[in-house]
Amino acid sequence: MWSLLLVTGTALAWGHHAMMTDRALDQDGLSWLDATVTVTSAETLLAQAGPALAQAVDGHQAWQAARGSARFRPQVLPATGATRADLWRALRLNPGATLPLVLRLPPAGEEARHGFPVAPEAASPYLHEVDGLRVRIEVVAEGTAVPARAVFATFVDEPDWGFDHELWGHTGYGYGAQPYGKPTGESSKAPFHMQFDHENFLTVAFSDAEEGMVADRVDLFLRLSQAAFQADQDYWGLRFAAWACHYAQDLAQPYHSRAIPGVGFGWYLGYVASPAKDRIVTRMTQLEANRHFVYEDFVATALQAGYLGEDATARALAAALVGQGEELPTAGDAQTLVDAVTGPAARHARAIDRALVAAFPARWMDDPGVDVEVDPSYDIRTLLPTVPAEASARLLDETGQDFAQAGRATRAVLRLVGAREALAR
Ligand SMILES: [Zn+2]
Repeated sequence: MWSLLLVTGTALAWGHHAMMTDRALDQDGLSWLDATVTVTSAETLLAQAGPALAQAVDGHQAWQAARGSARFRPQVLPATGATRADLWRALRLNPGATLPLVLRLPPAGEEARHGFPVAPEAASPYLHEVDGLRVRIEVVAEGTAVPARAVFATFVDEPDWGFDHELWGHTGYGYGAQPYGKPTGESSKAPFHMQFDHENFLTVAFSDAEEGMVADRVDLFLRLSQAAFQADQDYWGLRFAAWACHYAQDLAQPYHSRAIPGVGFGWYLGYVASPAKDRIVTRMTQLEANRHFVYEDFVATALQAGYLGEDATARALAAALVGQGEELPTAGDAQTLVDAVTGPAARHARAIDRALVAAFPARWMDDPGVDVEVDPSYDIRTLLPTVPAEASARLLDETGQDFAQAGRATRAVLRLVGAREALAR
């Protein structure tokens, strides 16, 4: 089998989900999220909601079995007396992840709000402040009352904090052979965060593109959220819902829903005919990694600017996230939600790729010898003011389409788990 999917470890990957979520919740009808919930440790959750969580794990496995998944080995969560290690094993997550009791705050301001400020690395070894993007983390004590909205926005980030990393060595989990990404490092989580369900038959024939596992994650965390809410564990109901939301937001990103967004069918024909397949794929993978990185850096930087002051781009992106009109349907299961997000994102991949290429210098868009992520001369803050007005308007318009979908997916998850009804009880 040829490896059409090298998937580099682009570190950001909508790395600032918390800001996106915060903006997506700026609807009048969502003011119920201002209610407070009580911060609760994993141990308290297990003591209070053990039977409901155990049932959720069983339900998830029945769902996997029913769809014929070969990528799982049944696990059991003891209904009583379960430990944190039992929880990790039953959910098949990386046991090195810590489930910290923290909040991630919007980038503006210095004052402590709910606890005491710590370095981002206190929340996760994968969390850093880079390229001027602020990561404000506070440790919050168990028992503290905090706004539901802040809990949900914070933990939409959490699937990037380590529990999906480097799972392929845990053979007892039954994930099978890794379909794409590397076994260690940032790209080890790729099959859980990228889903290529809309590829042409050549990609399907020449790779394991369709072996992504995002729907599994969404199903598991939706069930756990509902179970926690049932047991009156509202903090964890929100935290698990936020995890499910992370994947839906990831898939609204065309670079997470198309294997090679910038090419058409002709490129694939050339690939099949070429004797130098590895070179072709390495070249295209670097180009797409660079565009992917610049796209996410652009939106994160723009979103942050909207918190730090008045910024027209940020205002347009926030408006797209809030959306207007149609919301996503919430009938069906996790796969229905995944399909609702990946379809439009995959179809939008070439348009966003072209808008990026038109907006930014060829050095960052079209040179496979450059790795934007580590190139010291790359800085999005100096690049943005140089984008020609017409290309900038088009990029903003195309980005707005992806953001509108991400916003809809965010709100759909809250409806799917019944968060509003649970918080009203
Ligand atoms: Zn992700």
